[in-house]
Amino acid sequence: MPQETMTGNQAIRLLDLNREALREQVVAWGQPAYRGDQLYRWLLQKVALTPEEMTDLPAGLRARLREEAQIELLAPVTETAARDGNTIKTLFRLDDGQLIETVLMRYDRRRTVCISSQAGCAIGCTFCATAQMGLQRNLTAGEIVAQVLYFERWLRQAAKHHGGDAPAGQAPAAGVSNVVVMGMGEPLANYHQLWQALRTLTDAQGYSMGARKITVSTVGLVPGIDRFAEEDLQINLAVSLHAPNDALRATLVPINHRYPLAEVMAACRRYVARTHRRISFEYALMRGINDSRELAEELSALLKGLLCHVNLIPLNPVAGSAYQPSRREDVDAFVEVLQGHGIPVTLRMRRGIDIDAGCGQLRARVAARG
Ligand code: SAH
Repeated sequence: MPQETMTGNQAIRLLDLNREALREQVVAWGQPAYRGDQLYRWLLQKVALTPEEMTDLPAGLRARLREEAQIELLAPVTETAARDGNTIKTLFRLDDGQLIETVLMRYDRRRTVCISSQAGCAIGCTFCATAQMGLQRNLTAGEIVAQVLYFERWLRQAAKHHGGDAPAGQAPAAGVSNVVVMGMGEPLANYHQLWQALRTLTDAQGYSMGARKITVSTVGLVPGIDRFAEEDLQINLAVSLHAPNDALRATLVPINHRYPLAEVMAACRRYVARTHRRISFEYALMRGINDSRELAEELSALLKGLLCHVNLIPLNPVAGSAYQPSRREDVDAFVEVLQGHGIPVTLRMRRGIDIDAGCGQLRARVAARG
């Protein structure tokens, strides 16, 4: 990579570099390559924010970093906690002014971070707040990784101050335990940057999170699902279904015109055959739209014999949208039908509903305020 002359704020964005590129950068600065690995560990394992913390790097390299490099890529704009205190949603501004959202959910001993893969989204699902802003741009690998690191720091700080929630005598729980790529954007439409980020997050030299702790959610881009199935990391795949037939699905997820249900399901079957891994299907229950017993039967038939799991999500109401969450009794009946057919199903809790912790909702509200 040719080195930029330092004009204005053209700093080298360290988190955008993978381990190899970071070594090359350090060599270009006249340092031995292993200093790059040290720097990589400072960034991803010790989640350092300043060169001053990197005490085992030579002073010359630290000065170089101070003058020419940038570590943090996210500026928090607002941070909102749900009433239960266990869901925290942060709106970040990126270097070019774009706004993205990241959510931390603490429950069941898990500390899950829901990250964005794009600023905005081009897919246009009719019930989704992010769709209303269109696609602004893809996030870089560094911007994807930085969302996890932000909450890693946040949790480590919280554990230090409160001793965590751990019972006496046990180490306090700290750090992010799971990552879901279910924030703004369609991750498989930003495949290259997403995978660079996932490799950095799972790299044993890097953030070293287990691949099985990460889930990527797609609207059902068939070529992306096929590509995903060939990857060597055991990252979980979730597919947003929301309807068991083309006519209904096309009204909710317009890209169904391009990738109809039969093709999406065929790709899912290829994925399971290739990886032997369970696939998750997301289904947001909307009152009177996709929540009848008949549709539950149709969904059961569609998924019959497939190694899968259904995640039912109560709809997060979006301002200006006619879609409403399903009634409790309809949700229960829907679950019952699926279970009756032996399909594993979980009803996802509605977390952070009071803080607009649904896809794109916080950004929409802040943007509306101006
Ligand atoms: N583009 C990816 C990730 C999007 S967000 C995808 O489509 O899967 C993750 C999930 O939240 C998707 O299943 C999406 O359809 C769902 N979602 C979006 N808006 C929602 C809302 N208002 N209420 C409930 N779920 C919503």
